[in-house]
Amino acid sequence: MVKDSKFYDLLEVSPDATPDEIKKGYRKMAMKFHPDKNPGMEDKFKELTHVYEILSDPEKRQVYDEHGEDGLKEGGNMDEEDILSAMFGFPFGKMGGGKRRGGKQQGRDIAFAVPVTLDDLYNGKQTQFPINRTVQCLACNGKGTNKPNSVQKCASCNGQGAKIHLRHMGFGFIQQVQEACEECGGSGESIAEQDKCEKCHGEKVFEEEKKLDVYIDKGMEHAQKLVFSGEADHLPGTTPGDVILVLKMEEHAEFKRSKNDLLTTKKITLFEALCGFQILIKHLDGRSLVVKSAPGEITKPGDTKIIEGEGMPQYKNPFEKGKLLVHFDVVFPENGSITVEQAKILATVLPTPEKFDIPTDAEKVDFNEKNLDEEDYEDEDGEGYEDGDGEGEGGNPRVACHPQ
Ligand SMILES: [Zn+2]
Ligand SMILES: [Zn+2]
Repeated sequence: MVKDSKFYDLLEVSPDATPDEIKKGYRKMAMKFHPDKNPGMEDKFKELTHVYEILSDPEKRQVYDEHGEDGLKEGGNMDEEDILSAMFGFPFGKMGGGKRRGGKQQGRDIAFAVPVTLDDLYNGKQTQFPINRTVQCLACNGKGTNKPNSVQKCASCNGQGAKIHLRHMGFGFIQQVQEACEECGGSGESIAEQDKCEKCHGEKVFEEEKKLDVYIDKGMEHAQKLVFSGEADHLPGTTPGDVILVLKMEEHAEFKRSKNDLLTTKKITLFEALCGFQILIKHLDGRSLVVKSAPGEITKPGDTKIIEGEGMPQYKNPFEKGKLLVHFDVVFPENGSITVEQAKILATVLPTPEKFDIPTDAEKVDFNEKNLDEEDYEDEDGEGYEDGDGEGEGGNPRVACHPQ
C-alpha cells in the first residue's frame, strides 16, 4: 500500500511496478511530452523527470511510498516523524518544517515527547520544558569574527571543508574516503586566532539551554502538538526550525479517557447491587463526588451508569464537560459464606427459578470441586480467584476487570 499513487499515475504504471517497468513508463511518457515535440510542455516534462528520479531510487521511492510527496520535501523531518509514529503507535502528519523562509535555508524542526498526566489535561498546567540548542553567536552574527576580511580559506583543506583519504582495504584494494576537515570543522574557512570573536572564540555558534514555557490547556489530548516557532537550532545562514512538543499521556490508575468522557470502574458488593449503594468518587481536581443508586434499583455486574458534566473539559471551551461513566463490578460473597438456612431466607425474596422437566433417561454428572477461574489461577501464581485483586494478567476477563 502506498500513501499516494500520483507519481505512479504520472508514469502510467502501477504502484507495485518493477524498476524496469518504471523505466519503460518514464521513457514512454517522456517521449510523449518531450518539449521538442510539444512546445509549452516543459513543466510537464520536468515533472516527469523529477518523478522518475524519485521512483528510480529505491530509498527515495520507499520514502514516497510511505510518506507521499511531503516526505520528500527538503528539510522534511522524517526522523522525528518516524520516532513519534513509533512512540504513539499511529502515523504522524508532516511536521512544521520543509519550507524555506526569507530565502534562507530552513533549519530542522525538532520534536520531543512531553509526559503529562490525566490530571494535567483535566486541570490545565503551566510548566517549563528545557531544551539544549545550538544558536548563532549574536556578538559576531554567526561569522566567527567581527574584523572584516579576516575569514581565510582553510589552508589544511584548501577551503574544501573535506579531505580525501586513501584507505587500504587489503588485497591491493584502496578505498577513497572523504572526511570533514579537522582544522576548520568542515566549514572550509579559518580565522586567525587574534581575529576570532571573543564571545564564541570563532565557533560562530554556542550551545545554550533554554526553558520553554509550556501551557497545557484544559482538555488537551494525548499526542497533541505544541509548536514553538523558531526555537530549534539556529545555525549561521539558516532560519531556525520549530521545536514541537508532543503530549504523551500516562495511564491513570482510576480513570480512562475517551475523547471528552471519563470512565471509572467501581466495585460494589452483591448486597449493594441488590439493596442499593452509595459510592464516593475522588475526581481529578480533588473534589469528592458522592452518588447513590435509586431506591429499589438493582445494579447488575457490568452495568455502566452516566454522570453528566463530570467528564473531561472541552479544549478551548473548558466549562463544557463530557460525561463520567461509572462501570460496576459486583463482588459476590465468598463460597460457603451463606448457610443453607440463610439461603432459604434469601429464597423467600429472590425470584423463583423456572421449573423444568428432567427426562427419565437423564444422566447424573458432577462438577469439579474447583471453578475454572480457581484452577487457572492456582496454576499461575497459587492465588485463588477471590484473593486475586485483578492485578494479574490472567486470561479470564472476569478476573482481569479493573479494581479501584
Ligand atoms: Zn579545513
Ligand atoms: Zn561570535
